[in-house]
Amino acid sequence: MPQPARRLDRIPPYLFADLDRQKRAVEASGKRVISFSIGDPDLPTADAVIERMVEEAPRPEHHRYPPYEGTAGFRQAVSAYYRRRFSVALDPDRAVVAAIGSKEAISHLVWAYVDPGDTVIVPEPAYPVYANQTLLAGGEVYVLPLAAERGFVADLEAIPQDVADRAKLLFLNYPHNPTGALADLAFFEQAVAFCRRHDILLVSDAAYVEMTFGQQAPSVLQVPGANEVAVEFYSLSKPFNMTGWRLGAMVGQPAAVAALKAVKANTDSGQFSAIQRAGQEILTAGAEQFVLRMNEVYRARRDLLVSGLRRLGWNVPEPAATFYLWAAVPGGDDLEFVQRLLEEAGVALTPGQGFGQAGAGYARFALTVSEAEIEEALERLAGVLPAMLPKA
Ligand SMILES: *Cc1c(COP(=O)(O)O)cnc(C)c1O
Repeated sequence: MPQPARRLDRIPPYLFADLDRQKRAVEASGKRVISFSIGDPDLPTADAVIERMVEEAPRPEHHRYPPYEGTAGFRQAVSAYYRRRFSVALDPDRAVVAAIGSKEAISHLVWAYVDPGDTVIVPEPAYPVYANQTLLAGGEVYVLPLAAERGFVADLEAIPQDVADRAKLLFLNYPHNPTGALADLAFFEQAVAFCRRHDILLVSDAAYVEMTFGQQAPSVLQVPGANEVAVEFYSLSKPFNMTGWRLGAMVGQPAAVAALKAVKANTDSGQFSAIQRAGQEILTAGAEQFVLRMNEVYRARRDLLVSGLRRLGWNVPEPAATFYLWAAVPGGDDLEFVQRLLEEAGVALTPGQGFGQAGAGYARFALTVSEAEIEEALERLAGVLPAMLPKA
């Protein structure tokens, strides 16, 4: 057998393989694991989407190749939604391209811009796809660590001048996975000015833009002139419980949209048009109400988990957005901490190091677990957590 391409040697070994093995071992010993480690909504997709899909799936017009850039109906629905939700105008033909889930389009956008040796700025902790796709494409990752003291909002002033001058892409992701941090429009204004000054494409991953507790999260495209320097990834996965459907979009800077289309046209042939039609349904009507309802579910879970952990003596912060809770672990060793909770309590978290070295010392809970399961997890943790905490 030939060796796989050397580019595969550039991405770090899969940290979670070890944890999966440990999880299976705990389950094999007869203990049910309560898993907070997966950022995948546990509740069903909105009824309107499912009903539309059932209606559309048999129609022969959907059984042929869809248009590469996404159906006109879906792109128009994304455009209309951005106008309604953010007061942002997007030309459905030049500024919107459909994605087979945003992960696909994030990956292909990197391939559209990064030549070997090119620099990409990645604030970390982060969704691992930004750095790993950059490495696969032969690029160099400049890691910008996010500080708790700044509420995990990126300090763009800390980027050295030479890095800023040679970088091609800057990734931002607010509301933020894994920390639950929120950035305001003033921060996006600074980021747009920074990218304009240094001729960088600003890449905003808005996977959680709908998922906030209280104030609404902005789109980077609300900054005047942003569509000259920025693109944004919108995903139907998290807000509408559609991770399995694979549907999202990239919107914004038309030259970047054209570059992404060029890669995609040579790589994939688009998402099943019946799925695009079903996604169009929720964006056109019902999105806001569904999101409100889901955010209330996550808020109740968050409040239950935060108050429960604090009662046990672990003073975790309360996230302002997303369905994650990010906390510094007692003792400071996230891998060891996560392993102990798994083995001793049958409770699985994600170690912060899974999101880059800047995440070391933290762990992430995903609130994709019912309140009953959270109660059960808190009971189990009551048996092990207090012994791990520093004495008050
Ligand atoms: C889940 C997630 C995605 C991917 O979402 P899909 O649209 O399902 O591919 C992208 N970015 C972040 C930060 C995520 O957490």
